[in-house]
Amino acid sequence: MADFEYLLSTIDRIKGVGKKTLSSFNKKKIFTIFDLLWHLPISKIETAEDTEIEDLQIGKNYNIKVKPIKYNFPRIRNLPNRVVCEKNGIKIDCIFFNSYEGYIRKILPLNENVIINGKATIFKNKFQFVNPTLKNLNNTNVIKDDSKYSLSEGLTLTKYNEIINNVFQNLPDLTEWYPKEISKSFDHVSWKESIIKIHKEDIKKIRDTKYFKRLVYDEIFANFLISSDIRNKIKKIKKKNKVFNLKHQIKIINNLEFNLTKDQTKALENINKDMKSKQKMFRLLQGDVGSGKTIVSVIAALNAVKAGYQVAIMAPTEILANQHYKYIINNFKKYCKPQILTGKTEYIQRKKILNDLLCKKINILIGTHALFQNKITYNNLGLIIIDEQHKFGVNQRKKLSDKGGDNCDVLVMSATPIPRTMMMTIYGDMDISLIKSKPKNRKPIKTYSKNETKIDDVIKFIKKEILKKNQIFWVCPLIKESQKIDHQSAIEKYKYLSRILNYNVDIIHGSMCKEDREDVLKKFKEKKIDILVSTTVIEVGIDFPNANVIVIENSNKYGLSQLHQLRGRVGRGEREAACILLFKAGLSENARKRITILKNTNDGFKIAEEDLKIRGYGDILGFKQSGLKKYNLADPLQHKDLFDLAETHIKKIEKNNIEIVRYNKLLKLYDKVAVINDAI
Ligand code: ADP
Ligand code: MG
Repeated sequence: MADFEYLLSTIDRIKGVGKKTLSSFNKKKIFTIFDLLWHLPISKIETAEDTEIEDLQIGKNYNIKVKPIKYNFPRIRNLPNRVVCEKNGIKIDCIFFNSYEGYIRKILPLNENVIINGKATIFKNKFQFVNPTLKNLNNTNVIKDDSKYSLSEGLTLTKYNEIINNVFQNLPDLTEWYPKEISKSFDHVSWKESIIKIHKEDIKKIRDTKYFKRLVYDEIFANFLISSDIRNKIKKIKKKNKVFNLKHQIKIINNLEFNLTKDQTKALENINKDMKSKQKMFRLLQGDVGSGKTIVSVIAALNAVKAGYQVAIMAPTEILANQHYKYIINNFKKYCKPQILTGKTEYIQRKKILNDLLCKKINILIGTHALFQNKITYNNLGLIIIDEQHKFGVNQRKKLSDKGGDNCDVLVMSATPIPRTMMMTIYGDMDISLIKSKPKNRKPIKTYSKNETKIDDVIKFIKKEILKKNQIFWVCPLIKESQKIDHQSAIEKYKYLSRILNYNVDIIHGSMCKEDREDVLKKFKEKKIDILVSTTVIEVGIDFPNANVIVIENSNKYGLSQLHQLRGRVGRGEREAACILLFKAGLSENARKRITILKNTNDGFKIAEEDLKIRGYGDILGFKQSGLKKYNLADPLQHKDLFDLAETHIKKIEKNNIEIVRYNKLLKLYDKVAVINDAI
């Protein structure tokens, strides 16, 4: 038996794997023996059932596995050829009339296991099969255990199974890494046992067993451990604590037009505590669209400035970067020296900014990813704020965090609520502050659904809203009309609305150039446009407090979370907002469910949970888009209890760090296949 390292060795270590087979496996991204094991079979190969001798009944037909041990070819007319076979030490004869020696030798090779099919008869107190046929010519030792795998060129199923079986003969026994109170949740079955079962049993049947459960837990827990490990490493980084008192913050807050919500205040407290500590901050500020994350991050930025540091605020688009810049310049100029830097900033201006940064004439730099290009050197960067970046993976966050240097705290903001079970998977490397409550003045967005044939009612409604000086978003799934898909196109709708309405209608979509798009948004913000027809591409983070109605065409086409995000473009002001979901007749049951949920709740977290239930894991928004790898076995819906267990388990370990060594092997095995390591 091999040792643990065997699992991490490359597969050419296996007998029978030469250069050619190796490269076939590599094409399937199978490099190590563990990779091979982690690649599950698709199904069992249907093979003939074997029968035990004691179960044989005279006159019935059977499949039976036997081993030929002696030929008897009498070469006398009318005497049959006979092959003496054996099964479990008992002799059994195969009798052939009118068959050639060569054929018999071929189908019943001596000392090989074969499965034959035929009628059981008795002759002289011995079972015999007359003219049996053969079930399988392969190496029949493995007949019963063969599994079907997805193959790449150069691989056959027989070869694949041979290799797997060879590996199983060498699999090391690993000492259990879990304590008993954890392993009891899967009846203490070992890793080795489980991995063998999962390859050898019918995959459809194994899913409900303790073996499957064990491997699922391994996968979840390993992922959590990897995140937790990153978090620990970041926490170990010693930084200079930031010194500032709250007098300054109180003054800023008192000057706001509104009171901070309880969750905003709590988040700010968390952030301040982190910044004042000697540990580097790596915190996520998560809150639904419109929950007021910006002001929290801006106050944090002003505190860092007060403590004498520079701050970088990174937004995903220029429009958002501009919005933040203007917000700061208009409201907090006396507390800081802000500047904006984007890909559009001209060379001379850019050069000046870089120089000003170095000599601290700028202390808040706002921009797009241009902020982190290598040529940019800060004088003493103390805080990085990343807005709306749910498309980053763990590794990218880590890189950004490293870029700021040891003294630099990191605050990440996300407006995409995710199901609670997925929190640790996606954000396990960070501390988390949630803003759950919306500002009090916010009226819930009223959501209506309408058959698109009733568009006249919608137009009437909109006219009234425009008279009340409200602005309208009108969202279509397509830019241009398509012959293939029967969906509304933005261009057609724009033409239609301009024709029938005497208002300012404009259009924005993804194939317009950036400058034109920004122009339109600017006009919209300045209220020069009443109705803005758009596709879904336009950013959701933009704050248009005066846009109060959103009409979404073909709303059954979108997922719940996406509809919720779209709806979040309105309802940021004090007036009542409305969302109108248009649909074609003949809604599917799921579409109906989605619409009902949206009508009933405005809570993004709740919606994320429901979305997961309807669409299933892997399809929910944010995964597909984020480029995150999926779990191989684990499913947050099906294995919610295991996710919960893993979360409690990891929190316990985080408190008592010595424990972590026992999981070294688990970590080594699963590191490469971790879902969190892979992001765009
Ligand atoms: P998001 O969390 O989506 O980034 P924003 O920070 O853009 O949300 O806030 C949305 C709007 O709510 C902004 O106009 C902001 O000024 C306002 N706002 C933020 N906090 C409060 C509050 N506590 N009370 C009232 N309005 C608030
Ligand atoms: Mg925002």
